[in-house]
Amino acid sequence: MRLILLGPPGAGKGTQAVRIVEKYGIPQLSTGDMLRAAVAAGTPVGLKAKAVMESGGLVSDDIVIGIVADRIEEGDAKKGFILDGFPRTVAQAEALDAMLKGKGLKLDAVVELVVDQKALVGRIVKRAEDAKAAGQPVRKDDDPEVFKTRLEAYNRDTAVVSPYYAATGKLKTVDGMQNIDQVTASLFAILEDARATA
Ligand code: AMP
Repeated sequence: MRLILLGPPGAGKGTQAVRIVEKYGIPQLSTGDMLRAAVAAGTPVGLKAKAVMESGGLVSDDIVIGIVADRIEEGDAKKGFILDGFPRTVAQAEALDAMLKGKGLKLDAVVELVVDQKALVGRIVKRAEDAKAAGQPVRKDDDPEVFKTRLEAYNRDTAVVSPYYAATGKLKTVDGMQNIDQVTASLFAILEDARATA
C-alpha cells in the first residue's frame, strides 16, 4: 500500500499516520521528521534546512525530493509507505510521479484531511503544551506566530496539490474535524476500499 496524506499543518496527519503504520505495517515517511533529524545531526541538508524550517517556510524542492528519493529506496519501503508532509508543491508531486513511474509503481490512495483552519492555531498551541507536559522537546515551529507562516505557506504553495491529485481521480477527503478515532475509522474505510480494488 502506497499512500499520501494531505492536509495543512496541524490537521492530524502525523497522528493518523502512526495508526496506519500499526494496521498496515508500512513505514511513515515524514519529510518533516527526516528534515528535523538532519538538522539535529548537523548534516549538509540539515544545515541548509534549519533556518527556513525555523521561520515556517518551505525547504527547497530539490532537497526534499532528494531525501524522499533516497528514502523510498530503503528496504522497509519496498512493501509500501505513507507519505506525510510530502508532496507540498506541484513540483514535488510531479517528481514523485516520475520516481514511481520509473520503478513501475503506483499510488493506491491520496487522502486529504479537511479541517477548519481557524481551529488549527488552537490545536498547535495544545500540541506544544502536551509535548512540554510529557517532557518532550517543543518544536520551534509550533510557536503560534511561526505556525501562521506555515499555514500561509500551505495556502500559497501546497493547497494546489489536492486539485493536482483530484484531476487524476485519486483524491479522497476525510473530515479532519471529527474526533481522532472517527478520523481513523473514515481513513481505514478508504484504505480498505483502495486495497480491495488494487
Ligand atoms: P512538518 O513536520 O511536515 O510540519 O514539516 C516541518 C517543516 O519542515 C515545514 O514547515 C517545512 O519547513 C519543512 N518541510 C517538511 N516537509 C517539506 C516538504 N515536502 N517541502 C518543503 N519543506 C518541507
